Amino acid sequence: MDFAEQVKSSVDIVKVIEEYVRLKKVGGSPRYSGLCPFHTEKTPSFSVHSSHQFYYCFGCHVTGDVFKFVMEIERISFFEALKLVAERNGITMPKREYADPDAKLRAALLEMHEIAARVFQGNLAGPAGAQARQYLAGRNVSPEQIAEFGLGLSEASGSQLVRQFESRFSGEQLEQSGLVAKRQEGTGFYDRFRGRLMFPIHNPAGKVIGFGGRALRPGEEPKYLNSPETALYRKSYVLYNLHRAKEAIRNQEYVVLVEGYMDVIGVYSAGVHNVVASCGTALTNTQVRVLKGHSERIVVNFDPDTAGANAAEKSIQLLLDEGLRVRVLELGGDLDPDEYVKASGAEAYRQRLEKAPVYFHWLADRARRKFDMRTVEGRMDAFKFLAPRIQNIADRLERFAVANDVANYLGVDEKLIRDHFSKGAAEPTPAPRRSQIPATERLLLNALLASEDARARVIPELSGLAAINQFVSKNVFQALFAMHSDGEEFRFSDLEGRLSDADRDLLSSTVFADDRLEEQMAQRVAVDCLEKFKTLESESEVASIRAQAKAAEKAGDIQEAMRLNALMTQRDEIRKRSRKAVEGVVH
Ligand SMILES: [Zn+2]
Repeated sequence: MDFAEQVKSSVDIVKVIEEYVRLKKVGGSPRYSGLCPFHTEKTPSFSVHSSHQFYYCFGCHVTGDVFKFVMEIERISFFEALKLVAERNGITMPKREYADPDAKLRAALLEMHEIAARVFQGNLAGPAGAQARQYLAGRNVSPEQIAEFGLGLSEASGSQLVRQFESRFSGEQLEQSGLVAKRQEGTGFYDRFRGRLMFPIHNPAGKVIGFGGRALRPGEEPKYLNSPETALYRKSYVLYNLHRAKEAIRNQEYVVLVEGYMDVIGVYSAGVHNVVASCGTALTNTQVRVLKGHSERIVVNFDPDTAGANAAEKSIQLLLDEGLRVRVLELGGDLDPDEYVKASGAEAYRQRLEKAPVYFHWLADRARRKFDMRTVEGRMDAFKFLAPRIQNIADRLERFAVANDVANYLGVDEKLIRDHFSKGAAEPTPAPRRSQIPATERLLLNALLASEDARARVIPELSGLAAINQFVSKNVFQALFAMHSDGEEFRFSDLEGRLSDADRDLLSSTVFADDRLEEQMAQRVAVDCLEKFKTLESESEVASIRAQAKAAEKAGDIQEAMRLNALMTQRDEIRKRSRKAVEGVVH
């Protein structure tokens, strides 16, 4: 067994995927389901099979094993996925150079970021950090918070990191790091961040992959300078503080979204640990999907200024489009979350958070301020102001529920509202979840996949049946037979490896079909199915002989007709006998 197989057999794919996606066990089966992290959806079509150790999405048809999942979700190479899964499960990688150049680059970049974080922290704690420490103290950031969030300071000289890196990393690695930049004139590199307060940005596994740097000198532009996109840091995927917040998000069952690094630190320090921020960029689709993997409920707490409000509107629309339940926390005054916590205290913030209204009530409150709510017309105008947003809700039932709720909230006649929304667009029909394979064929395949005994008992006979050629999944069966006759030990991934994409899809959808099958029942089910197919086959054989006999009779070949009739009777006898035998065993 090679190392990858060894890792695979000692980790549970369900545990690994649960790090990213909330999964629910399906009844007493080995199947789990959740919302697909690879496409947008509101009802779960992503499934994980704990005994076959693979996943499949009925929506976007992605499928694979534990490594494939980690590769896709972390956007890393096979070697890195292998390393990551092994490390997280306490399995030591055999010492071996990375064969993959991308992985080698990323490993170097991770090391550089680790070094940079250490260097920055040292600067902040040292003599050069006096002014920055003063700034932080002025914003009530405690030494504990500085340590917890790994805050640091980049040296003003612009050559500190370059000196650290030059002897250890190649020019190519330096150039790709995002931490230093090539001089436009002459040769060599300079530090990208100079004299800035540094916020390390981590991936969900807790490794530093980038930095946000805040200007400390008044008037210095830009106020925030962030790491550029690198092989490590893909802005559209990363949420600040997610690695610290993810456990609290699961426990609290919601996430708080704020705008900046300082907001995260302020809110986190108020004991609200389920807080993240988009890293100085507008919220993206992918970030929303990452969030959704952890919770479907979100409280948006953005800066109250006009620019912030517009950003909030856009972000909220994205969140709603992805089917999240959005509440909006508006703190009033002109305080951002960090300042509010400092001015009013942690307890006050937590209370405001508890009471944050659902998005549509928050919108309705804004409408109330805009229109004269004492008149019917004014209330209707307020409702019309909200209507386009409500119209955007994709799910028809939810759209009606929200419309009714908002109508009540604004004091508008519900009937008027219903009329307004009954003209909504037709619903897209959800993708069929059923397998395309007929029931008996599906049952047989699942039985064979589930049990060694079933395979040993049934395959020798089954593989000789002509009925197989009529099977929708005949290629899957044939691959299974080939493995069996090669004397190969059955492994689900090996079977998959023998199939085309289309057949693999067929196999995956079959495995997650709603059939319940206990392993100890599998052999009986398989034998039952086999007998059914045998009966069908002999029935069709008898029918064909009968037709031939009739034809011979018509043609006047009496001798041939008699021979065929005798054959038919003989076959029919066999069929009846074997059916009786099956009924005796199975029913
Ligand atoms: Zn999907």
